[in-house]
Amino acid sequence: MTTTLQDCRALDAQDPLRPLRDLFTLPEGVTYLDGNSLGVLPRSAPGRLAKAVTQEWGQGLIRSWNDAGWFTLPQRLGDKIGTLIGAGPGETVATDSTSINLYKVLSAALHIASRDHPGRKVVVSERDNFPTDLYIAQAVCRERGYTLELVDDGRIEEALGGDAAVLMLTHVNYRTGAMHDMAALTSAAHRGGVLAVWDLAHSAGAVPVDLHAADADFAIGCGYKYLNGGPGAPAFVWVHPRHADAFEQPLSGWWGHAAPFEFTPYYRPAPGIGRYLCGTQPILSLTALECGLDTVLAAQPLGGMAALRRKSLALTDLFMRLVEERCAGHGLGLATPREHGRRGSQVCLTRAEGAYAIVQALIARGVIGDFRAGDRAAAGAQPDILRFGFTPLYIGFEDTWHAVEQLRLVLEGAEWQRPEFKRKHAVT
Ligand SMILES: *Cc1c(COP(=O)(O)O)cnc(C)c1O
Repeated sequence: MTTTLQDCRALDAQDPLRPLRDLFTLPEGVTYLDGNSLGVLPRSAPGRLAKAVTQEWGQGLIRSWNDAGWFTLPQRLGDKIGTLIGAGPGETVATDSTSINLYKVLSAALHIASRDHPGRKVVVSERDNFPTDLYIAQAVCRERGYTLELVDDGRIEEALGGDAAVLMLTHVNYRTGAMHDMAALTSAAHRGGVLAVWDLAHSAGAVPVDLHAADADFAIGCGYKYLNGGPGAPAFVWVHPRHADAFEQPLSGWWGHAAPFEFTPYYRPAPGIGRYLCGTQPILSLTALECGLDTVLAAQPLGGMAALRRKSLALTDLFMRLVEERCAGHGLGLATPREHGRRGSQVCLTRAEGAYAIVQALIARGVIGDFRAGDRAAAGAQPDILRFGFTPLYIGFEDTWHAVEQLRLVLEGAEWQRPEFKRKHAVT
């Protein structure tokens, strides 16, 4: 039986998470399927930021480090993030960018590996990992005398023997939305004496994560995607307590010192995760991130991540089904696994030709997704991708219907072939 617009409206009417949409400012006439790239503006953020600027900065000035709680923001926000990723209190900090935090944890992981298994000199990752992760890993490997071995999904476990020291993976793939089994791969890594570093950029706030249950060693993740922290929001870093005191990360700035305001000439790392801070923190950005985190935490009384996950799977299932029913015969393929346990919170379509222009034509119709280029050098050459992120906090079933309808119109009218949709912008 095919799905109708009325069915979608009925699903919205029954959706217990529907009221959460009011926590956001959504632009008129826009269906936003790009929250996996930049989350939308929390309604509370402009007022909260205005207060931070005019009162905390304007009036409180230097006193606000203590009086407004600025000094402990990385830890306070880290604990809020911790509740979404299965971390204990005091194990996570919100700070720096994902790229920088990866540099810190990968350095720490290689330090531990070189102590425990000095002969092993390989970091294993996935060829299809997000490029910044691979670029940072290349630099850390160069500095520490390791090599980075890139394998394809499905060949990861067999790369964990021999010389492997660290496995570095992104839990949910940014291009395809495919999700790894974190517990299984971590356990395979540990069986081979390999440490597991997880990037949760497309997982935190999107899918349930339990770092302790998986027994992960290190994790990092992004603040501006599903956590709605705003453009360039601080990222986060988590270290398993068994490793937190094992190494002073290489960016040993004064904010990671045990007593920064003693101003002593020699570095003494703070105990635990505090040493993963570097310098003075971006307070306004952290303030905005807290507004974003609070939107995700607002789902707690309604079932939390489990409820968000249920709705996310229902939305992505619906999107796949509607594309098949209503856009058949237009050359679209599916890059995202159908199996629930293998899927994040996005759906990626493929098309041999015109993926970029189709996304541009959709944006002109108010449906915002994005485009990711295929890896032409990969085995079997990956096609270009039309990527649609589903954030169940603010996306509903009728939105999903509407997005597929616009896609159908763009394809049926060959609208995407207009020259203005083929011009490439700097940011895709
Ligand atoms: C979004 C994303 C990043 C972003 O890193 P930045 O340092 O914030 O630019 C890194 N890794 C992955 C896997 C991502 O999805």
